[in-house]
Amino acid sequence: MYVQPYHSLGRALAFVAAAAFSLGVVVGALAVWFVLGQSRGGESAAVSSHPWRVQSALPEPSRQPATSPAATTAVLASREPASAPTASVAAAPGEADGAFRTGGGDAWPESLTFAVDPAIPLAPPARTERLLLATRTERVEQQVEIRRGDTLLSILLEAGVGTAEAHEAISTLRGLYDLRRLQPGQYLTLALERERRSGGELRLASLSFALDARKEVELSRDDEGHFVVRAVEREFAAETRLATGAIEDSLYAAALRQSVPESTLAEAIRLLSWDIDFQRDLQPEDRFELLYEELVHAPSGASLPGDLLYLALRMDRRIVEAFRFKTRDGQVQYYDRQGRSLRKSLLKTPVDGARLSSRFGNRRHPVLGYTRMHKGVDFAAPTGTPIYAAGDGVVVMAGPYSAYGNYVRIRHTREFETAYGHMSRIATGIRSGVRVRQGQVIGYVGSTGMSTGPHLHYEVLQAGRQVNPLRVTVTVAEQLEGRDLEAFRQRVADIDGLRRRLGEAKLVASRVTP
Ligand SMILES: [Zn+2]
Repeated sequence: MYVQPYHSLGRALAFVAAAAFSLGVVVGALAVWFVLGQSRGGESAAVSSHPWRVQSALPEPSRQPATSPAATTAVLASREPASAPTASVAAAPGEADGAFRTGGGDAWPESLTFAVDPAIPLAPPARTERLLLATRTERVEQQVEIRRGDTLLSILLEAGVGTAEAHEAISTLRGLYDLRRLQPGQYLTLALERERRSGGELRLASLSFALDARKEVELSRDDEGHFVVRAVEREFAAETRLATGAIEDSLYAAALRQSVPESTLAEAIRLLSWDIDFQRDLQPEDRFELLYEELVHAPSGASLPGDLLYLALRMDRRIVEAFRFKTRDGQVQYYDRQGRSLRKSLLKTPVDGARLSSRFGNRRHPVLGYTRMHKGVDFAAPTGTPIYAAGDGVVVMAGPYSAYGNYVRIRHTREFETAYGHMSRIATGIRSGVRVRQGQVIGYVGSTGMSTGPHLHYEVLQAGRQVNPLRVTVTVAEQLEGRDLEAFRQRVADIDGLRRRLGEAKLVASRVTP
């Protein structure tokens, strides 16, 4: 069990909760939800911004299973859940494999999970009685996993829905959704209601399940009690997470073990690859830190990867850090602590599928017939092949330029520029003053100007003079200035604050995790 210090307290609360439930109590304002849920193995502890709220996060199919205590990922919910405190009580032993589908076969006290904010007492008796009078219906929400062999009908009947009602619900759903697409392992959220006075029949209030990662199908009732079905956009709340640890075998493996989403990790590795030779530079004891967002759909627990906000790699002699930051003109980039963009190499070959057809240096000029300096490199490629910006920067020239034909020049830093000649066409929107990103299409291969056939003439200029693009490894770093730099410093302070808070939350989490 993962919340050792609370185990006995938890057991006590569970019986209080169970007793309260049997009385059919729903506490209004302080809504204590007794969810007849199902226990599942492999819960992972997550710690929200409140240091004492320990929640059991149900693992979703795509998630990594919970890992060792050292690998706890701290979570800071940017939005507090609306219904605190919550206690979720597993189905009683007699109901195992019954309507409420306990999984895994855990003994009942083991399957108890709860989240309690000590600041809010659980249902003081006097108050409970008064509130009892205010509620006429009791409502039970449950999540049901679809198992092999299940049908929606069998699931609804098992949950206690009447046959006629179940058929009505299914035929309404069929209007929007092909039910054969439901897969084992998928979850349904059912809400059942029971009128207190009539004291019997359970009524299906709503049913929902995922349509895709961003939408779900929701069956509910209109004012007259008829079923209606619609597709609703899921609401995702961004949660900020911190993953830290030693590299051990590899950064990739170490971060994956902490459930860092793969796309977030790919971004981190892409950023580090500007600075790090993964084969040579990294040692097993080097430490990494990733601060990132995950978009979480609270009711289902589904999540989508969000932005990587910060990364750090602490090596023996140096530290690499990257802060995500959006400049005032809307460009998102990663910067070091001083506000320099992460160093980036220029693309060596800024055109796809091209053959190097002429090198930098002295050569006999193919058109003019005498020997002269070739101040760039030529890449032969068919007319119309896209040409990419070799690095992030600002277009300083775009248009016909004497012997170069259709020509684009990009300034990457105060020192370095790249130039591209003989284009058949300059890409739409590429003109002087426009910002471009590395890899963005700026034009198409052609043979305009003084040229014997379709090719890209490519130059790298250092302080205004052409240098050999193949010999110099040009790395460019942009320095934030003025108001951008001011805003960036604030951003760095904010991120450092988040890292501290989540780091402390992690410590608490590792203490309550035996
Ligand atoms: Zn050339």
